[in-house]
Amino acid sequence: MFSIFSGGIRPAHRKKATARLAVRPMDKQPVQVILPLAGSGDAVPVPLVTPGDRVRVGQKLTEPAPSLASVHASVSGTVAAVEPRQQLRGGSVLSVVIDNDGKDTPVASPTWRRVEKDAPPASLRPGELADIAAQAGLTAMDGTGRSLAQLLRAAMGKTEALIIDGTEPEPYVTARRHLMADRPEAVLGGVRLLMQALSLPRAVLALEGSQYDAVAALRGYLPLRGGDIALRLLRDRYPQRAVVQEEGRAVFSVCAAAALWDAVYQGKALTHRIVTVTGSAVTRPGNLLVPIGTPISDLIREAGGWKEEPVRLVAGGPMTGAAQFELTAPVTGETCALLALTAADLYPAAQPEGPCLRCGRCVDACPVGLAPLFLRLYAKSGQWEALKREHITACTECGACAYVCPAHLRLVHSIRVGKRRLSETADGREADHEEA
Ligand code: SF4
Ligand code: SF4
Repeated sequence: MFSIFSGGIRPAHRKKATARLAVRPMDKQPVQVILPLAGSGDAVPVPLVTPGDRVRVGQKLTEPAPSLASVHASVSGTVAAVEPRQQLRGGSVLSVVIDNDGKDTPVASPTWRRVEKDAPPASLRPGELADIAAQAGLTAMDGTGRSLAQLLRAAMGKTEALIIDGTEPEPYVTARRHLMADRPEAVLGGVRLLMQALSLPRAVLALEGSQYDAVAALRGYLPLRGGDIALRLLRDRYPQRAVVQEEGRAVFSVCAAAALWDAVYQGKALTHRIVTVTGSAVTRPGNLLVPIGTPISDLIREAGGWKEEPVRLVAGGPMTGAAQFELTAPVTGETCALLALTAADLYPAAQPEGPCLRCGRCVDACPVGLAPLFLRLYAKSGQWEALKREHITACTECGACAYVCPAHLRLVHSIRVGKRRLSETADGREADHEEA
């Protein structure tokens, strides 16, 4: 199952600044949170609150829909607005804006059955676990924003192997590592709940050898051999192809496992997440426990403000994250990191694009076996049939090709634009005119 795959890269870790720092709550809570109501897909949920309403932590703001997790208030206070707001991934999304009263008043009880802490996972039906995931607003917490309940329902009865992804192959990011090191019981308990949801007797938890404190913490709760959860240490590599989704295999993040444990045994909706705030431009890097909806300006403040003006601000890892040009967009359940990078950090160094050298390094680096140089060429020249023939939709946008390209070509950007234009053309919609 964990055979070595071809392609991939080994970027420098750059995790030193936060690798040994335990998770800490914010010193000063956000004055206002902005909770986007739409996750992935086109469905737009109907808000259950209007401006002026009082809300409590964990209060449901939308009903779950088949493809969307419900959204919950992450602070207590008053709804200031329900209106479109800027998002980290670009564009505006209908959002509930809450003025924080600073009291963190929780809801009296969750809208699902709360289970005693010592109740075994087997006392819950698989369907009930998916229902709890939907009611608690759990997402995959893997950067995609997909509804965990929907993923579980789709995998039920069709899955032979369950893999829990604890790897963090992108440079700088250490949020998963600290979740596993600080809360091993919740992570392993959540893995057992996922096993129960999929009716599987065993699971594999994949980590990287460099996450040694997480490995030590988890090993403290597992037998050396023969247990229901096997730890597998992968060598550091980007991307970690061993944990990709394949037929008959379900992959969930450790964050989703711990969030399911919190929902089942603590009655908690998804309201907070760990975000690594780092990069040479911030004064005090760290792993922060952040209410979802916190504007990224507050994260910068918590990190001690600028030590040096950043050249680039990225929400997420440096390979797949989204560049930020303003500080107003909020953290979501999918935001693993905020990177404030100086010129010395830049990854890869910002350099002007040169002509393609036909060196083939991008082809060697691609873990999916694509030819990125041709994808760029065809996207730029609008050759849609050629893009299909070259399997552009199989690209995971991992960024490995751009990382190794000696000509500094913006390969991932071209591929993204090519994919979007291809789907617009297939739907008969008019293609946009962004340069590929
Ligand atoms: S971004 Fe796409 S084309 Fe480039 S290496 Fe990753 S999967 Fe391959
Ligand atoms: S790595 Fe860059 S320069 Fe080399 S073939 Fe690929 S696109 Fe061209």
